[in-house]
Amino acid sequence: MRRGPIKFVLIHHAACDSRLHYRLSEAGQTEALLPESERASHANSIEIGLEGSFSDSPPGDRQIGALKDLLLQIKQRYPDVAFGGHRQVRGVRTQCPGRRFPLKSLLAWTRSGLIAARDAALQDEVERQYHP
Ligand SMILES: [Zn+2]
Repeated sequence: MRRGPIKFVLIHHAACDSRLHYRLSEAGQTEALLPESERASHANSIEIGLEGSFSDSPPGDRQIGALKDLLLQIKQRYPDVAFGGHRQVRGVRTQCPGRRFPLKSLLAWTRSGLIAARDAALQDEVERQYHP
């Protein structure tokens, strides 16, 4: 199915039955399941699922680290993209990505740490290209 412009990145747990573009294992391995040019479950979104349900415990550091790496890569490709959890989609009734998923702190990071990491990566690229 064709898709519209990419505006959102939606985070799921793998227990959710949404179609996903990426799946992240507990060990932090990233698997691409669908090309970003194809629609998954929600319009205008890239969808990422983390292995686990996070109803009783949060994801581990390696999984969160892999998620942040992937969000940074996506932000570099789609500078205006916004981030959110599945349960924040208007009209859906779900706990996804799980009661214990640290959505609030992750979204705070997308507004500060992610921007700093993107700017640092951009600066590195400029220096690689233009330094004598
Ligand atoms: Zn979901």
